[in-house]
Amino acid sequence: MTESIEASVDLKTLERDERLARMRHSAAHVLAEAMVGLIPEAELGFGPPTDVGFYYDFRLPRALTNDDLLVLERNMKRSIKRNHHFLMERIERDEASTYWGNQPFKLELLSELEDENITQCSHSDFVDLCRGGHVNHTGEIPPFKLISIAGAYWKGDENNPQMQRVYGALFETREELEEWEKQREEAQRRDHRKLGRELELFTFSEDIGQGIPLFLPKGEVIRNLMESFVRQQQEDAGYQHVWTGHLVKKSLYERSGHMQNYESSMFPPLVDGETEFFLKPMNCPSHMTLFNATAHSYRDLPLRFAEFATLYRYEKSGELSGLTRVRSLTQDDAHIFCLPEQVQQEFSNSLELIKNTLETYGFSDYRVALSLPDSAGKYIDAPELWEAAIQALRNAMEASGLEYVEEEGEAAFYGPKADFIAKDVLGREWQLSTIQVDFIQPGRLGCVYVGEDGQDHTPVMLHRAVTGSTERFLGVLIEHFNGAFPLWLSPVQVVVIPIADRHHSYANSVQAKLKSEGFRVDVDLRSERMGAKIRLAQLQKIPYMLIVGDKEAEANSVSLRVRGSSSAETQDLGETQIDELLTRLLNERESRDIGP
Ligand SMILES: [Zn+2]
Ligand SMILES: [Zn+2]
Repeated sequence: MTESIEASVDLKTLERDERLARMRHSAAHVLAEAMVGLIPEAELGFGPPTDVGFYYDFRLPRALTNDDLLVLERNMKRSIKRNHHFLMERIERDEASTYWGNQPFKLELLSELEDENITQCSHSDFVDLCRGGHVNHTGEIPPFKLISIAGAYWKGDENNPQMQRVYGALFETREELEEWEKQREEAQRRDHRKLGRELELFTFSEDIGQGIPLFLPKGEVIRNLMESFVRQQQEDAGYQHVWTGHLVKKSLYERSGHMQNYESSMFPPLVDGETEFFLKPMNCPSHMTLFNATAHSYRDLPLRFAEFATLYRYEKSGELSGLTRVRSLTQDDAHIFCLPEQVQQEFSNSLELIKNTLETYGFSDYRVALSLPDSAGKYIDAPELWEAAIQALRNAMEASGLEYVEEEGEAAFYGPKADFIAKDVLGREWQLSTIQVDFIQPGRLGCVYVGEDGQDHTPVMLHRAVTGSTERFLGVLIEHFNGAFPLWLSPVQVVVIPIADRHHSYANSVQAKLKSEGFRVDVDLRSERMGAKIRLAQLQKIPYMLIVGDKEAEANSVSLRVRGSSSAETQDLGETQIDELLTRLLNERESRDIGP
């Protein structure tokens, strides 16, 4: 038997991530083996490990079915039982070309390899072109499950052939795998695309175009409330709101550097004679232009411009996904122009604003990634400014008491930044808010203030977004709350349910009373049974149901039902006086209570 060029490894001695990566990578080999067993004409793409398992891309003469997954899984388990060793070998290009002669994707991968890096791995009688990183034998592959089939372009490029991708989940123990499966089912139940449809929040239309969400009345209520909440906090924190429209001339983006760095994320220009306009992909150059519209002294700083701006970004159609990846997005964007010595305070204030906002929405578990330049300092053309800023950011982070990690080499070209990564109720992480310090762009666009010395100076600029984009944040919120929004955010906060026709006028008077306090209240006047009306209100996840009949009409009260913490059940709180109800609603709305 040939000697493997890959050393045998004691898995127990490896870090968990490394161990899992080897197991997942090895499982992908076994999946490819099973596929060739099932469909001998299969053309193999590649099969990397993922965060939860592995996948493999294939071009196949027919579409795979869920039954195929079962067969593949069975065949994989058989191969795993046989403890086949993984054998890595270096081979000559000629030999490899002959071997992969009828596998076009493998030939393409082969052509991209240097001669000395051509290695293959075999187990049983299956061979794959591979760089290495396996377990010793198939018997070391732990519990796994094939979970889905998806379409994917070869190498993710839509000009390339379409492949079929088989996804697997793999964890070290059966318990971990089952836990992951449970969580996945819960995530599917909460999928914001599904809930968005059921709750009539938003829609997409082929007539409008991919990646452009359309908000139905109930969705727009929520959007508006989310924005008002941030707007109010910004006003309290000394921001000024501005508006800069949708189109910007190309020449501005040439000066700001966006044409060089960002063009692939922009839609093609609109042309008017000699002038090219772009749909705005970000606000920074527009806000700097606004800054330049008036003269500034050091006494005017910090100056904080905020805007809820709809931006347009070119995303490949294959990468669009519900509200979380769209082509038109509304950013709660702000730019703070300040003196170098104000960076720390402004950064602290932004941290505070973001922290308040995330916690109001119930994201209490989050961490901050502080991205710094690498120590080689390749970004730096004003090293003493950067050094001071990095120290200011560290001080602000320490003072905030937030958990943070420093990531060297991850800074933007114009300065260090802090990204907020929040965990939702299912433990999934979302990158939401961001604060970035910018030493470069204000100078490029000629932003100046007159300093104490009477000379012109360039301000430092902070870019800052609280929820990131309203669309994406709403998508995350829908799943986080499972569609059962807290009272202050619910599109319909209260439904009044009359028991019989003769109670309609009392029901209407209850509605009018609550509406006069600014609540969003429906009355269900349909001639349905009460049980059916309650069920509909539950499906719509309305926080409060007020049932009114003879007794309630007489006593100026309601029979109160409250949506439970899991929205399927309701809690019956019995007869409640209108005034008592009103106090409860007002308190809950005012405090933006998110409930149990
Ligand atoms: Zn391999
Ligand atoms: Zn910006």
